[in-house]
Amino acid sequence: MGKTLYEKVFDAHTVARLPSGQLQLLMGLHLIHEVTSPQAFSMLEHLGLPVLFPERTFATVDHIIPTKSQLRPFSDSLAEEMMTALERNVKKHGIRFFSTEKGEQGIVHVVGPEMGLTQPGMTICCGDSHTSTHGAFGAIAFGIGTSQVRDVLATQTLAMDKLKVRRIEVSGKLAPGVYAKDVTLHVINVLGVNGGVGYAYEYGGDVLDAMSMDERMTVCNMSIEGGARCGYVNPDETTYAYLKGRALSPKGEAWERAVAYWKSVRSDPDAAYDDVVKIRGEDIEPVVTWGINPGQSVGVNGSVPRANDVPENERGAAEEAYAYMSLEPGQKIRGTKIDVAFIGSCTNGRLSDFEEVLGLIRGKGLKVKPHVRALVVPGSQAVRRAMIEKGYDRVFTEAGFEFREAGCSMCLAMNPDKLAGREVCASSSNRNFKGRQGSPTGRTLLMSPAMVAAAAIAGEVTDARELFGIGAA
Ligand code: SF4
Repeated sequence: MGKTLYEKVFDAHTVARLPSGQLQLLMGLHLIHEVTSPQAFSMLEHLGLPVLFPERTFATVDHIIPTKSQLRPFSDSLAEEMMTALERNVKKHGIRFFSTEKGEQGIVHVVGPEMGLTQPGMTICCGDSHTSTHGAFGAIAFGIGTSQVRDVLATQTLAMDKLKVRRIEVSGKLAPGVYAKDVTLHVINVLGVNGGVGYAYEYGGDVLDAMSMDERMTVCNMSIEGGARCGYVNPDETTYAYLKGRALSPKGEAWERAVAYWKSVRSDPDAAYDDVVKIRGEDIEPVVTWGINPGQSVGVNGSVPRANDVPENERGAAEEAYAYMSLEPGQKIRGTKIDVAFIGSCTNGRLSDFEEVLGLIRGKGLKVKPHVRALVVPGSQAVRRAMIEKGYDRVFTEAGFEFREAGCSMCLAMNPDKLAGREVCASSSNRNFKGRQGSPTGRTLLMSPAMVAAAAIAGEVTDARELFGIGAA
């Protein structure tokens, strides 16, 4: 019987069985940022321990960094304090820091792949839930808590239980105007926000095979929103082509050896899965969330479900969502007025995300509705530079979008980019939890970047395919 990629990578990185019964797993790569690392470093200091593998540890700053100006000191003293602590810690422990000064800064899940650090067959961890993003490369990557960040800094290992593996096969083709974001939101809608608990998700099938690395990252990014600890795609020629020539990917003979290893970790054709789910690409529509978790979603031309149409165990959550979102059961989601539009985040803040939108708005004289505050926030300084070089910043600005500096921005709003009061935001990010975007009463509708752009221009949720004539002959 063959093995899955998950089993191969997990087994290759297992150091020992611990007295607790858990397995001790070596971490190939540890990514850190300013929010979850200061306490971990303090604990390390308290224990008098060094960072065991500084050369396997890389840092960036993303959550707290302002996107209007990155000039220091930051006006928020807490943000400035976090930044200073990170700078002090990386210097003390000899950790490479992707800093703003060097032009390498960005969201941790954007810069890791961009630098060529994220590679197939690796174990990767970071004190951030959306570390599952890196699974797009065929890595086993997961988010960890602050005390685990300490453990990895001190030992480069983690205590873990082995997960079950569910293969999610998306067959056929996506219709024009349906994107990777719609695929991942659809999967979460079908399997539920807790459907993946205890599982690693292996994504495959024609649709995933045809996706770019950026698109695969969008899908893997949201695995955690479906309850899975991690999600991955088997590496293939698309993966190797993406990694070739990146700043920190292997070079020369090391490249040949690496590719041979990467090929060997792919799931075997006769691998056994704990579960297999099949989804037809043709059944996926542009998706919009209507509720307060990413599973509460409908196709753009659908309606907010009535309580009776929701499975019994989800009715309480649905009632809570109707009240919080001020949406009526049975109400069409299309036409929901928005106040803010946000394109960015580690889900959809990569160059191709902005290029997709740009291709839809350029040269059409389309403008953001005057009452909408629309933000375009690159996921990294490298993405931002590329956008400026290509003149994309001007196209967005002329259409009425604010073009910002790189960072997490309004995804989590641990920086000045926040919703105010009951504002409704069409967002390309990954969480629509209550208060997620900085206002305790703010409301988030998750969707693809194209759908966010359409909502910004229409001033309300609309079908991007109609507005932009996507797929029209
Ligand atoms: S963009 Fe959002 S989800 Fe991604 S790392 Fe930043 S805050 Fe977390």
